[in-house]
Amino acid sequence: MTGAPLFERMALIGIGLIGSSLAQAARERGLVKEIAVSTRSPATLQRAEELGLGDSYSLDAAVAVDGADLVILCVPVGANEAVAKWIAPALKKGAILTDVGSTKGSVIDQVGPHVPQGVHFIPGHPIAGTEQSGPDAGFSTLFEQRWCILTPPEDVDQAALEKLTAFWRRCGSDVDRMDARHHDLVLAIVSHLPHLIAYNIVGTADDLETVTKSEVIKYSASGFRDFTRLAASDPTMWRDVCLNNKDAILEMLARFSEDLSALQRAIRWGDGDMLFDLFTRTRSIRRSIIEAGQDMDEPDFGRHAKDKPFISAD
Ligand code: NAP
Repeated sequence: MTGAPLFERMALIGIGLIGSSLAQAARERGLVKEIAVSTRSPATLQRAEELGLGDSYSLDAAVAVDGADLVILCVPVGANEAVAKWIAPALKKGAILTDVGSTKGSVIDQVGPHVPQGVHFIPGHPIAGTEQSGPDAGFSTLFEQRWCILTPPEDVDQAALEKLTAFWRRCGSDVDRMDARHHDLVLAIVSHLPHLIAYNIVGTADDLETVTKSEVIKYSASGFRDFTRLAASDPTMWRDVCLNNKDAILEMLARFSEDLSALQRAIRWGDGDMLFDLFTRTRSIRRSIIEAGQDMDEPDFGRHAKDKPFISAD
């Protein structure tokens, strides 16, 4: 999708995997005239500059947002409030302020109160990512054929919402809109719980005494390694996700534990029908994901398709 730039100046606060990918997508597709980059550490800022991700670079987030008509917070969700306080006095009237955080209720609670009158705050979450982080991990096609969920307030300015929707569409995403609390419930089951299960199973394997670590690694292709990709995700990001989507995650964990107990009972009592029925039902979910274009129809999760990075939905 091509066309005239949508924004004069985009400020990216945080330039890790997501910020870097946005910078590259926006540049490649001509979505903005100018990109201002800000991040916390001099080392990351220097790397962003070496990669040519922006037109200007600053350690001061308020300098980056000055004059920007699009501001995107690309920091861990636990850092949003401090950043919002910092940039609030410098935000331009009429600007769109959005974010990419994996939780949405907390962002609204923590950022919302600091947004000045006349600035359009529309939280967002691209359902696209990898287990890598930092500016080098970004790539321009990350958002292609992935969903981006916007959680606008009820009284949102429609023109601003349409403009932000157009931005994500031109990054290659499909855009959905939903209530922030519903977003958090949906993401708890499709993203947060799978990551917790992966962290837990890899941690359990690491703690085992009867099976050695070298055996776990040597025979990992039998299933374990698929969990290790999720369990290699950024610790800061995932600590913040857990702390900022506490209620929904605890609710899903309770459901999960009940179902796991039922599975345990079926194994104990030799209830093969129960196991077979469940495994048949779950297999059809995998087929639906492939049909929806959210994964590749290749054995071994498409690992041998070397030309495409494997993309996860975080
Ligand atoms: P990342 O690669 O680790 O980059 C994080 C960026 O935020 C860096 O520029 C880092 O700055 C900055 N930062 C970290 N802690 C900060 C703090 N306390 N105050 C100010 N800045 C801070 O992270 P990412 O994967 O791009 O994730 C960014 C956001 O996207 C998160 O909210 C995450 O929930 C969301 N998200 C991630 C994924 C995914 O798969 N990774 C997918 C969808 C959405 P320095 O390097 O300079 O310290």
